Amino acid sequence: MAIAKPGEARPESEKLQTPLQFLKGVGPKLAKTYKKLGLETVYDLLFNLPRDFEDRRQTRKINQLLPGQFNLIKGEVLKTEVSTTRNRFSILKALIGDESGRVQAVWFNQPYLLAYLKVGTRLIVSGKAEVSPYDGQIQLQVRDFEIDTGDNLTIVPKYNLAEGLYPKKYRAVLKSALDGYLKYLPDKKKQAALLSMHLPKDLVAADKARDYLAYDELLSFQLGLLLHRLEQRARQPGLRFIVDPAAMGKFYQQLHFKLTAAQERAVADIFGDFTGGVSMNRLLQGDVGSGKTIVAAAAAFVAVCNGYQAAILAPTEILAWQHYEKLCQLFGGLNCRVDVLTSTVSSEQKRAELQTADIIVGTHALLEEKVVFRKLGFIVIDEQHRFGVHQRLRLIKKGEQPHVLVMTATPIPRSLALTLYGELDRSVIDELPPGRRPVKTHFVPKNKRRQSYEFIREKLAAGRQAYIVCPLVEESAELDLKAAKAEMELLQATVFPEFKIGLIHGKLPGKEKDQIMKAFANRQIQVLVSTTVIEVGIDVPNATLMLIEQVERFGLSQLHQLRGRIGRGEEESYCFLAGNPKTAEAKSRVKAMLETTDGFAIAEIDLKLRGPGDFLGIRQSGLPKFRVADIIKDEKLLLQAREEAKLLIEKDPESARNRWESQRENFEVAKGGLGGSPFN
Ligand code: ADP
Ligand code: MG
Repeated sequence: MAIAKPGEARPESEKLQTPLQFLKGVGPKLAKTYKKLGLETVYDLLFNLPRDFEDRRQTRKINQLLPGQFNLIKGEVLKTEVSTTRNRFSILKALIGDESGRVQAVWFNQPYLLAYLKVGTRLIVSGKAEVSPYDGQIQLQVRDFEIDTGDNLTIVPKYNLAEGLYPKKYRAVLKSALDGYLKYLPDKKKQAALLSMHLPKDLVAADKARDYLAYDELLSFQLGLLLHRLEQRARQPGLRFIVDPAAMGKFYQQLHFKLTAAQERAVADIFGDFTGGVSMNRLLQGDVGSGKTIVAAAAAFVAVCNGYQAAILAPTEILAWQHYEKLCQLFGGLNCRVDVLTSTVSSEQKRAELQTADIIVGTHALLEEKVVFRKLGFIVIDEQHRFGVHQRLRLIKKGEQPHVLVMTATPIPRSLALTLYGELDRSVIDELPPGRRPVKTHFVPKNKRRQSYEFIREKLAAGRQAYIVCPLVEESAELDLKAAKAEMELLQATVFPEFKIGLIHGKLPGKEKDQIMKAFANRQIQVLVSTTVIEVGIDVPNATLMLIEQVERFGLSQLHQLRGRIGRGEEESYCFLAGNPKTAEAKSRVKAMLETTDGFAIAEIDLKLRGPGDFLGIRQSGLPKFRVADIIKDEKLLLQAREEAKLLIEKDPESARNRWESQRENFEVAKGGLGGSPFN
């Protein structure tokens, strides 16, 4: 809600922010329980929608109860009794009768309910009908009951409730919120929609109401994103670069391949931003191996030709050095100085040298305060999900309104991208370089392991190389590391004695990692046993084999990233998944890996398996918590809302802004994300 200026009347809608404690029947204690559910104000309560409905329109006559199933009956209490079993269970029984017959309703361990069950009281009871083992009679094991007042809800909304909140009490409190406060909601349609959710008369109408509220929420959110983006653009006149075709011609001559059409489109997008006079804020998304690096390099070269420095931030030492070496080759003949800064080489002298470099590749070491650039005009963040907003901002602050390109291989599904990155421009490389063949993937049960080792041996003998990946997680890092070392020794001693085997893991000093990676790239090592440090970015096309141990311990997107290390050359590549997936989820992950190599398909499955929060990781979650909408299930609504938001802003920016401002505080956002969202 907009805060009223002094002297201005407070809008009535502010009453919706009344703390729940002030509702009838809710004291400070109950308010605390509500708070555990994230419900603090009347507004929260009104927008906490039912997760499901129970249809109580169909009651069953007592003489037609179906054993083994849930039944709903209406009847009168004829008789009650409470007894205690030998092991101290209390059993409450009430004989219920209707015009067709009688049945014993049974409650376990709730003797206090006796007070509600006076003889003659009319009840609506739902429960499972079971044949009693003692007397062969049908009993109703009660799940829920209420007193039949004649105007009971026939469709009962079900809420996610915390311990200590009883559905009936909850609904009563909600009812008093609806009676006393719904009228303060400015939008009449929303009032009606909330009523048809909380006091439903008709399931179809309730469904429609839910979609209406979800749509409304998505629309407000998209308005916020788009308005924020417009504002940013107006506020940030950026560097204007000139793209010199002659210089670019020389750059392309250094490549031993032609850019794919998708790469060309991405380059064109970036150059458009460079020459447009507004700071670029672009996400470059492309599956592993799609060739993002070269796109970044082309862009960096433009910055350099315009007299600026370019910085490339990489998440790991290995990756920084790999980029450095590639760029050195690429820019060797182009009068463009490339340098590298990681924590292992960082020194005063080194930092001073950076002043004279044109393109600087580095790890987190680049972010240190002591690192100063001469004239930083372009920033690339590689594997952006590995960095937080603040790290990105730190680097941006070292430049003069630099253009920013963030790159990711996480193929973020469209609905997520629109929610999370709606404020960013996006280029997608949706095509792999020619000649790539999809990796052949097999599951290896224990008894087939020897066979896969034999297969790998043959390929190694033919000159190929292999990765053997072992899991390593923070919680059991030491044990995992030991296991990886043992694995390496075992392989060397008994499985592949004729080949050279190396071990690489995150705990190794940067220099050593680099040496091992170099030895692998130069084919001095044939088999590289590794923990997941190879996950990002590593590019050794001759490595065409991968064996992943304990596959059940890896996430799906992670497996996809790992597999992306092979299948990079002309030769056929093979990925073996070894392990023992037991849970349904682990099995689904393996199944997905066997069925597809399409990063987007995998991401969609992963998103469904894990939900958006986990999918993105805590680091960058930055996702708003929607009260109603579900960005996976409501993708269609999301797309519609986005279109409408665009139209509204075009037609009447003023009222679009007012609408957003009146809604913004109803959105809660996990901090993080790519930054530049309306909430940061
Ligand atoms: P990623 O997008 O995963 O970062 P890279 O930039 O590491 O991928 O590129 C993967 C490999 O593909 C590299 O060896 C690169 O030289 C090569 N490559 C990139 N673009 C092309 C292309 N258009 N044609 C052929 N090979 C390419
Ligand atoms: Mg890469």
